[in-house]
Amino acid sequence: MSLNIIVLAKQVPDTRNVGKDAMKEDGTVNRAALPAIFNPEDLNALEQALILKEKYPETTVTLLTMGPPRAADVLREGLYRGADAGYLLTDRAFAGADTLATSYAISTAIKKLGKYDLIIGGRQAIDGDTAQVGPQVAEKLGLTQITYAEEIESVENGVIIVKRRIDGGVERVKGATPIVVTVNGSAAPCRPRNAKLLLKYKKALTPSEQREKGVELPVERAYLHITEWSVADVNGDVKQCGLSGSPTKVKAIQNIVFQAKESKTLTGSDEDMEALIVELLENHTIG
Ligand code: FAD
Repeated sequence: MSLNIIVLAKQVPDTRNVGKDAMKEDGTVNRAALPAIFNPEDLNALEQALILKEKYPETTVTLLTMGPPRAADVLREGLYRGADAGYLLTDRAFAGADTLATSYAISTAIKKLGKYDLIIGGRQAIDGDTAQVGPQVAEKLGLTQITYAEEIESVENGVIIVKRRIDGGVERVKGATPIVVTVNGSAAPCRPRNAKLLLKYKKALTPSEQREKGVELPVERAYLHITEWSVADVNGDVKQCGLSGSPTKVKAIQNIVFQAKESKTLTGSDEDMEALIVELLENHTIG
C-alpha cells in the first residue's frame, strides 16, 4: 500500500531574535530582514510523513510552501531529510496574505498536484500564530481534518488513526482519507539531515535561482528541479490572493518591551492575588 502525502511547510522569521525592523509599515512581515527558519511544528509534520513513508513503501512525500523566492530553502531542508519533491508557490500577488488568502493559494496548488491521501501541516506558524491555515485548507478542499495530532498511528485502506494531544490527556481518533492533519510540537521531532541526501540535493534549485545564479540544471536530473508556481500556474484568482484577498489585516504592531520597574512582594493570599489582578487590569497589562 502506498500513500501520496503533501506536507505544508512554511518559512518563518526566527522569532527568537526578532529586532525592531521585523514588521513593515503595512503590518506584514519584513521577511527579507529576518533570519528565516523552517516552521518548527512543520518539521514535526514532516517527520510524521517520513515515518509513514518508511511504513508504507512507494509512499511519496511532497513539500509545498508559499512564500518569497528564498522560501525554497525550506524545500531543500525537507529534501535533505527525506522528502521526495518540493513545490514553491511564489508570486508578488501572494504577498501579504492572511490565512484565508494563504489557504486559498495552497488549496489551489494542491488541486493542481491532484493526487493526495494525506495533507499534513504544523499546528501553527510561529509568526502569525493563528493555527488557521490547516483547517482552512481542509474546508477549501472539502476534506475532514484532525488537528493537534501527536502521532499518526496508521493509514490502512482509507482509514487513518491518529493520537491527539488534548487538554487533560490523549485521545485516539479515526478518520477517512483523503484528510488534513495538523501536527503538534509534542509529536516526534524531525530526523536530522541525511548525509547522502544532502549530497544528492544540495544543488537543487528553482528556475528563478538558476537564472539568478546563471546556471542551468541538466534536464535529466529532474530531482534537482524545484518546481515554482505563480498564481497563473495554479489557475488562481488574483482577487483571492495576497493583500487583495485578505479580509483581515494586521492593524498595528507594537514592540512591547517589559521593563522591570518597581517590584512588589506578594503573598499567595487571595487578597494579594485579587489586588494584583485589579492592578494589572487597571493598567491594561491584561484584559
Ligand atoms: P498558521 O495558520 O498558524 O499555520 C498553520 C500551518 O499552516 C503551518 O504550520 C503550516 O503547516 C501551514 N502554513 C501556513 N502558512 C503557510 C505557507 N505560507 N506555506 C505553506 N504552509 C503554510 N493572518 C490572519 O489571517 N489573521 C491574523 O490574525 C494574522 N495575524 C498575524 C499577526 C502577525 C504578527 C503576523 C506576522 C502575521 C499575521 N497574519 C494573520 C498573517 C499570517 O502570518 C499569514 O496569513 C500566513 O501566511 C498564515 O498564517 P499563520 O502564520 O498564522 O499560519
